[in-house]
Amino acid sequence: MTAPQGVAAWAEVDLAAIRSNTATLRNASGVDVMAVVKADAYGHGLIASARAAREGGATWLGTAFVNEALALRAAGDEGLLLAWLHPQGADLSGAVSANIDVSVSSVQLLGQVIDAARAVGRVTRVHLKADSGLSRGGASSSEWDELVALAVRAQRSGAIEIVALWSHVAFGDEPFHPAVDAQAGAFDRACSAAASAGVGDVLRHFSSSGPALRRPDLAFDIVRPGLAVYGLSPGAAVGEASELGLRPAMTLRSTVAQVKSVEAGVGVSYSYRYTTAQATRLALIPIGYADGIPRAATNQGPLLVGGQRTQIAGTVCMDQVVVDLGLQSSVSVGDEVVVFGDGIDGAPTAADWAHASGTIVYEIITRIGPRVARVYVGDDQK
Ligand SMILES: *Cc1c(COP(=O)(O)O)cnc(C)c1O
Repeated sequence: MTAPQGVAAWAEVDLAAIRSNTATLRNASGVDVMAVVKADAYGHGLIASARAAREGGATWLGTAFVNEALALRAAGDEGLLLAWLHPQGADLSGAVSANIDVSVSSVQLLGQVIDAARAVGRVTRVHLKADSGLSRGGASSSEWDELVALAVRAQRSGAIEIVALWSHVAFGDEPFHPAVDAQAGAFDRACSAAASAGVGDVLRHFSSSGPALRRPDLAFDIVRPGLAVYGLSPGAAVGEASELGLRPAMTLRSTVAQVKSVEAGVGVSYSYRYTTAQATRLALIPIGYADGIPRAATNQGPLLVGGQRTQIAGTVCMDQVVVDLGLQSSVSVGDEVVVFGDGIDGAPTAADWAHASGTIVYEIITRIGPRVARVYVGDDQK
């Protein structure tokens, strides 16, 4: 793979992997998949990734914000689509007009949604969200009965249609943690209460990537995976991506911009956090913290440089990092660099980067900056 001209670093995104991972999630869970494409499809590029997920069998797409969902509609996506997090001033009327399902998790928000439905003159499709134990979004158990009663009344008045009931787990990275089962129990009780209050036979969704892959017993009607769509495992307790049949979709690439020889004992990069142990060759890689390389990976971040496995020497800068190649290295300017990929060719993985910088793979992939071009491969299906 050659560099797009003049681009210092680029993220190669394999759309065939996204298609295949979506199909894997469908098989593992046994139910319909709502592929989560928030945050620019976890940094992979919203539109292309969403299309690939649809081609892989995602009957639903999910975003955090209405604006993200509207961008999908503007790009021509006409399928089932849910947005669940509504900040002050969110374009709920725009969502209703564009036939985007909205999550409602409070009485206050229900009122705004009813207003939007009346303003647009169209029934709003609503997913009522219960807080089953994450204590983040969702109606807490004390508000649930009132929310459901008002929603049933709004449905009878023709303002809304209750499409689904849903909740979100706290231990998505530990699908066998007892809290997952406790939350599923709480969600079940919330669903029963809703049924008693007159909510009809509606869909239910609960599971993010970890439980979608490992807990088909908790799949309900739809699973809602994000990370696994992009071929990564949420954590060791879920399993290795390859064992789960997932293919990492993103390979972060660059090329060597400069190589130089230096003496023993020279300080390298800002503040001399690395000193050469002997005479050696250093290479400059034009990707830095503005591009998503965590500065916490100073002296740690692994790289494959011209086929040679090495790591960052010294401080991560805004636009660049340095590696110590050793005197024998034959690496030269223009050689390929893999920051992370599927790991099959000896390159580091996003999980290696998470480990090297004290974070999680989610943050490694979603923090890739706007200067990094997204280059799509595997789009040969059509
Ligand atoms: C981000 C998110 C998901 C997807 O989680 P993954 O762990 O990436 O699978 C699902 N549901 C909600 C509500 C989310 O915010």
